[in-house]
Amino acid sequence: MKNVKYGKCVKCGKTHDAVPDLTTCACGGILDIVYDYGYIRSQLTKEKLAARQERSMWRYRELLPVEETTAPTPLRVGWSPLYEEPRLAEELGLKRLWVKDDGQNPTASLKDRASAMAVAKAREAGAKVIACSSTGNAASSLAGNAAAAGLETYIFVPSRAPRGKVAQLMTFGATVISVQGSYEETFELSRQAIDRWGWYNRNAAINPYLSEGKKTVALEIMEQLDWQVPDYIAISVGDGCTIAGLWKGLKDLHAIGFIDRLPKLISAQAEGCCPLNRAISQGGDWYPMEENTLADSIAVGVPRNADKALMAIRESGGLVVNVSDGEIMAAQKLLGRTCGVFGEPAGVTGTAGVKKLCEAGRIGGDDTVVSVVTGNGLKDVANAIQACGEPISIPSDMERLLAAFAENRISVG
Ligand SMILES: *Cc1c(COP(=O)(O)O)cnc(C)c1O
Ligand SMILES: [Zn+2]
Repeated sequence: MKNVKYGKCVKCGKTHDAVPDLTTCACGGILDIVYDYGYIRSQLTKEKLAARQERSMWRYRELLPVEETTAPTPLRVGWSPLYEEPRLAEELGLKRLWVKDDGQNPTASLKDRASAMAVAKAREAGAKVIACSSTGNAASSLAGNAAAAGLETYIFVPSRAPRGKVAQLMTFGATVISVQGSYEETFELSRQAIDRWGWYNRNAAINPYLSEGKKTVALEIMEQLDWQVPDYIAISVGDGCTIAGLWKGLKDLHAIGFIDRLPKLISAQAEGCCPLNRAISQGGDWYPMEENTLADSIAVGVPRNADKALMAIRESGGLVVNVSDGEIMAAQKLLGRTCGVFGEPAGVTGTAGVKKLCEAGRIGGDDTVVSVVTGNGLKDVANAIQACGEPISIPSDMERLLAAFAENRISVG
């Protein structure tokens, strides 16, 4: 890879050759992929990018840690829509607001970006089997992207994973182990199994290439905004790999001169599980917390990528905001009603955070904000019905329809 220098440990600074099956440093630290920005500048221009036909995350190859000969993965991952939402902006009191709907990825979450990268790197490593542990979306995205590429998967999920995500896993033909325990315990069993059988490791905080896949969400947002930098980008946070990837993408674009400043990050977590935001608020280090929220994808009491995530939020001068399950459900309804975007609970947590910051006056009428919806609501219909209610239910009878309208104070026409 001419564009990549090495993997650098975020703890001790040691550098490691960027081999395809690179994992963590001997000191336990997570690695960050370091690029040769001079080389990338010589290869990539905004004009060259604009002329490109590829409508997927692989349109940014010069900024990705893959060999030039590595084929793009089969499913169309990335290039999700960025909608400007003037009505929601007005309702919240923001100058401008955009929603990036990453629930439109092939397996319906942002995790597809990391899983496609895992599949590309597993192929480079000559691996036939990939494994991961996940709260659900990393699992379903890995199973789908691997199935499309003809690779086998072993997947560990906590037993609380929503049925929709488990249905995806079974449909994609993964070998699925539902662990009767927390995400922490699920992760631990997957680690032991990966050690034992030598599978390619798609655990996001261990494999440093995955957040490089996730960073493509930032590259797209900026290209879709014609390189005009918003004041804030809001996203939900669990392990911390996603927000770290988002920040990496922004810093890459800054380093190659495509953007002239950096936005601030908004890190949104659930009140019942916010170890990273708590560390920022308290100005100290993180420590474990219970996993007490309906937003299963961000119910992460022991975040696996705390170092990179905390660094990203701090470096950006970002804001942290914790939202209740009630506020998450309200945001689900609000996004659906004003934007026609259906997010899963963790998917809308960033937007719930934006709403809360607006109401508290911490952001407002002068600010431009991008809110990333990280996963699709169809993955977890039980919580959506919980948030938005049941429909009017009547027999096929006009009199009953009129009565129901009257009862529900619906005036037609
Ligand atoms: C995984 C996930 C997140 C958070 O990503 P982390 O890397 O764990 O911080 C947010 N939303 C959804 C829908 C996810 O699947
Ligand atoms: Zn180290």
